[in-house]
This record gives sequence, C-alpha cells and structure tokens, in this order.
Amino acid sequence: MTDKYAVIGNPIGHTKSPMIHGSFAQATGQDIDYSAIEGSLERFADDVHAFRKAGGRGMNVTAPFKLQAYALATERLERAELAGATNALKFEGDRILADNFDGLGLTNDIQRNLGFPLEGARMLVLGAGGAVRGALQPFLAQQPAVVVLANRTQAKAVDLAKQFAGHGRVQGCGYGDLAGERFDIVINGTSASLRAELPPLSAQALQGAKLAYELAYGKGLTPFLRLAQNAGVPKLADGVGMLVEQAAEAFLWWRGVRPDTRSLIGRMAIPLV
Ligand code: NDP
Repeated sequence: MTDKYAVIGNPIGHTKSPMIHGSFAQATGQDIDYSAIEGSLERFADDVHAFRKAGGRGMNVTAPFKLQAYALATERLERAELAGATNALKFEGDRILADNFDGLGLTNDIQRNLGFPLEGARMLVLGAGGAVRGALQPFLAQQPAVVVLANRTQAKAVDLAKQFAGHGRVQGCGYGDLAGERFDIVINGTSASLRAELPPLSAQALQGAKLAYELAYGKGLTPFLRLAQNAGVPKLADGVGMLVEQAAEAFLWWRGVRPDTRSLIGRMAIPLV
C-alpha cells in the first residue's frame, strides 16, 4: 500500500509541500501519496488522529499549528524541544514523534547551497518569533562569533537570548542598539515582509555584510532585501532554499533517503529584482 503523508496548515491553498515531496519521491523512486489538509485550531488533534487511522505515516505542520503539534506529540526530538514547536510529525504505531527541521533547513541553505560558513561569523537576526527560535540551536551549533537578535519587542529577544545562552554566544537587543555594529550575515526572521513592511533597521547595520537572507519566500525583492541591495550587500537570498531543505530533512527522517535539493531550488526560485 502507498504510504500517506500530508501537510496541515491554515490557509493551505498556497502550499508548495505536495509539489516538493512529489518531486523528491519521483527522484528517489519512493512510493508515497502526499496531500494538503486545511486544519482548524478546534479540530487539530482530531484531524491528525483521523489521518493516522487512515494509514498516514507522517505530516508536515505549518502555521498556525506548530505549537499544537508539539503539544500533541508523545515524543519530541531535541530540536523540537529547544524550539518549543514542531514542523514535522512521524507516526509509529501509537507513537507520535515530533521534530523541527526549519532551523536545520535554513542552516543547510546558508552553508551548503549559498556557501557562507557560519563558523566564526557575526550574525544579526531580526525577529524573535517561532522561526528564529527554531533556528537558534542549529546556528549556535556551527559556532558563529556571535548571534545578535534584534526584535521590535526587545524583551522577547532578550529572553530568547537568555534561554539559549548555554549553547553559544547570543545577545538580545532592540533595533536602536545596533548603531556602530558590523555583521557578516543579516537574516530577516520577522514576518514584516509578508505585509511588504520593513523592520526598523538602519541601512548602516547592513554595511559590510556579505549575505542578506530573507526567510519569507516567493515575494521577490522585499523591502528588507531592497534595503540590503542599496546598502551594497553582494548576496541576497530568500527562504525558498530553507523551505526545500527542511522538506528534504523531513523526507530523510520519514523515508531514510535524502533527496537532492539543488535542482528543485533552482526551479522554484524567483528572481530577486
Ligand atoms: P512569528 O509570528 O512567530 O514572529 C514574527 C516576528 O516578526 C516577531 O518577532 C515580530 O516582532 C516580528 N515582526 C512582525 N512584523 C514586524 C514589523 N513590521 N517590524 C518589525 N518586526 C516585525 O512568525 P514566524 O517566526 O513563524 O515567521 C517569521 C517569518 O519566517 C515569516 O516571514 C515566515 O513566512 C518565514 N518562514 C519561512 C520559512 C521557510 O521555510 N522559508 C519557514 C518558517 C517561517 P514582535 O515580537 O515585536 O511582534
């Protein structure tokens, strides 16, 4: 019988996950069926259990269910535990295993695909929401010189930095504290670009940076990327590579085979102009 997988989120109409996993399955010769489920906050647990009972083997979880999926799991892997959220579930009998591949996908994209080592890098990360929380441990594991978290609500960045202080050098601050600081890599982990907004970042904080990375994808040149371009940052990237890389890690976890990601990222990327 064909193994079933799905992505659950709301809204879900825009999801690229069925296409990505379908492409992985074809390339690796795996026989899977991958669908999209529009979930609701009230029915989330029922939807997951119904999918399991119908033969589901695993699920990707996207907004706004990453915390509920974490709560529903019977076992959480370390990355999910540290992120306090999950973006992938695996079903084994009565067990619901939870992992989180968002941060690993982002790290893989920056290092392997874009060729920017994090070791020794001075990193500025904007935002202190779910995606940034999930990325912190994978970042710090690469031993950057420092990760500075800047958030509109400063206290959230400071708290997050405190929670991860045991994993490496990480500091939380507000945007106003960045004056005079220089960074190698600047990552926009806020959701501002989804509304075509710009975080209150001064162009000066981008001076000398080698890479500006936007977590949002499919938006072209966002206000953040435009600011970086005008500041002379030589390499701009959006989150399409992160999306494909986290999917590849989930596929590996479920199927034991790691698909190639480069050609798919190339096909999905839209020009940042
Ligand atoms: P959250 O809602 O958890 O966090 C949002 C963050 O953005 C908060 O820190 C918030 O600050 C900040 N923010 C929102 N609007 C503004 C603004 N106008 N100016 C400054 N800061 C702002 O979102 P997520 O962490 O889940 O998602 C963040 C981004 O990452 C989104 O663009 C999402 O699409 C993208 N993403 C991409 C993935 C991929 O695979 N490429 C995977 C997951 C997420 P405050 O605390 O002050 O409210």
